[in-house]
Amino acid sequence: MTSENSQKSTLRRISAKSVTAAVKTLFIEANTALNPDVISALRRALKKEESPIGRQVLEKILENAWIARQAVMPICQDTGLAVLFVEIGQDVHVTGGDLREAVREGVRQAYADGYLRKSLCGPLTRANTGDNTPAVIHVDMVPGDRLKITAMPKGGGSENMSTARMLTPAAGIEGIKKFVLETVEAAGANPCPPIIVGVGIGGSLEQACLLAKKALLRPVGKKNKTDKRLSRMENELLEKINALGIGPAGLGGRITALAVSAEMMPCHIASLPVAVNIQCHVARHKEVIL
Ligand code: SF4
Repeated sequence: MTSENSQKSTLRRISAKSVTAAVKTLFIEANTALNPDVISALRRALKKEESPIGRQVLEKILENAWIARQAVMPICQDTGLAVLFVEIGQDVHVTGGDLREAVREGVRQAYADGYLRKSLCGPLTRANTGDNTPAVIHVDMVPGDRLKITAMPKGGGSENMSTARMLTPAAGIEGIKKFVLETVEAAGANPCPPIIVGVGIGGSLEQACLLAKKALLRPVGKKNKTDKRLSRMENELLEKINALGIGPAGLGGRITALAVSAEMMPCHIASLPVAVNIQCHVARHKEVIL
């Protein structure tokens, strides 16, 4: 057996059709059923909220999520830009088509058959692309023979309030906290609070943005386990954000954010990139491993 043949025999074959089917299911599920960690965080928020109008908003958010799940209807009219994180094992061979096209087709089918609003348009023409594609697909090659797909429909209102900044290294952790707080305060009611705040620190400008978005995939309220400085910062920021008084739907109250999640990686000696990705209370993501 040649070395090429022996390599072929160890590859696991996954059909493009099964990728398409998985992506379709993930986007329909993500848009109609919030994950249990989000529901639990909203219930905890309801117990803590003191403002009567804030409590009313949280009750409606929970009731809306329940109705959407029962009726398999979108939780929000904004069914999002289709963001995907795909981890492909180096021992996987996708057969019968191209991986990216298989993913795009899954998005198309989900938004057509799931009656989800198509929210994508040309940035200058503003003409709708008609099928909610192209999707934003982040592909990572990883060890193993599995294919992990995470689907994240991202609403425009919260994405609009997200931002990134190149801080000076001297700004340090205090500069990062100040930047996050300023961003949340400036966002006010726009990102549909209560929000979840993803913070990405380090890497390059684009890597910080990716870290901030990936931080939103962490179960709500779970703290950073790799670095105590980050978990302390997450706690402190959550307290300070909730002291801003923006409240549920921006109508005033104690609960402006359900969680702050931060991720970090080394950066250039001359830089301190920081990104803040804001997620609204419709915190949607689903994943599958093929
Ligand atoms: S930001 Fe979230 S809750 Fe607000 S409209 Fe968009 S998807 Fe819906």
